Amino acid sequence: MNFIPYGKQCIDYNDIDAVVEVLNSDYLTTGAKVKAFEEALASYCEAKYCVVVANGTAALHLSSLVLLSKDDKVLTTPNSFLATSNAVLYVGAKPIFVDIATDGNIDLDLCEEALKKDPSIKAIYVVAFSGRMINQKKLKYLRDTYTVTIVEDCAHAIGAKDGNIKAASCTNSDVSILSFHPVKHMTTGEGGAITTNSKKIYEQLLTLRAHGMVKTAEMKPWEYEMRELGFNYRITDIQCALGLSQLKRLDSFIERRIELVKKYDEAFIDTRVKPLYSYDGKSSYHLYVVKVDFTKLKLSKVDLFNRLREKDIGIQLHYMPINKQPYYKALGYGDEHTPIMDNYYEECFSLPMYPKMIDEEQSYVIKTLFEVLND
Ligand SMILES: *Cc1c(COP(=O)(O)O)cnc(C)c1O
Repeated sequence: MNFIPYGKQCIDYNDIDAVVEVLNSDYLTTGAKVKAFEEALASYCEAKYCVVVANGTAALHLSSLVLLSKDDKVLTTPNSFLATSNAVLYVGAKPIFVDIATDGNIDLDLCEEALKKDPSIKAIYVVAFSGRMINQKKLKYLRDTYTVTIVEDCAHAIGAKDGNIKAASCTNSDVSILSFHPVKHMTTGEGGAITTNSKKIYEQLLTLRAHGMVKTAEMKPWEYEMRELGFNYRITDIQCALGLSQLKRLDSFIERRIELVKKYDEAFIDTRVKPLYSYDGKSSYHLYVVKVDFTKLKLSKVDLFNRLREKDIGIQLHYMPINKQPYYKALGYGDEHTPIMDNYYEECFSLPMYPKMIDEEQSYVIKTLFEVLND
């Protein structure tokens, strides 16, 4: 058996042909594929506008530049990739880490307590962790009641729904961000996107993606004006062609993930391996996370990781609590009261799952996991 990673891309000849077509064309960047990819993503996510960028982190950075000011307080989750709260720091704002609920998503009731105590809190950066949407009813309630800015990090969640509300539709948020890193649902190599329903935010994002530069019809033909400090966060047409091609197969990728989820769920019924949440047909399942109570075992979590990796199974932990990272500790973080996150960190890990995973690989993962746990 070859090494089985926790996630990987699914590339076929359509993808390769789409990329080659751009390589043979006149525009490798700032061409027609960028706009076409933006329109296709906006349509898929059911948002009005979309801006594609170099990666998901750039998407978070630009969102923060538009929505936050220095010293703004932002509620966010410790259970995410570093980029979510780093984007708050990039603009001199202050993340405040709130504990998670048992499904791995930020606890919105605790967010409400924090908003009640401190009305100066500007924003909430939520993450649709593992592909499971943030409860949209509660999100809407918080947004309406406390007039707080909402950023949805949907890097795990394209294709997910809560009721009829699609991930990254920004139905109850100011912006959503997506990532197209190869481990995510669909890939452009590196890449990301921001969706929004606000024309004003959309236009600000376009300017900031390209150095803060503006050209208008009234200007002389060679003129451009820099009105604010922007970046080069463009993505190439080569990547957007790949993204367009991948997007066509996204629903089939998610269908395959759901098949794998059902088989894992079934294998773990009445065993010591507990899925993080019971089957959610509307989650797009970027991750399959399970819990094991190691206090009842001879084996530690480190032993489990080492033993499975020796057997070519790339189990992974998503995530180490961001607030306990050395950089954050040096800023005074790390001692927040987050018992659910602490327990998550003790007991949880992600099992391999990706569209190309074959049944034999999954059976091998399940069999080997039980062999090691019962040893
Ligand atoms: C992957 C990821 C990002 C960052 O995306 P990149 O494209 O790697 O920059 C941000 N947030 C979450 C939750 C992610 O999983």
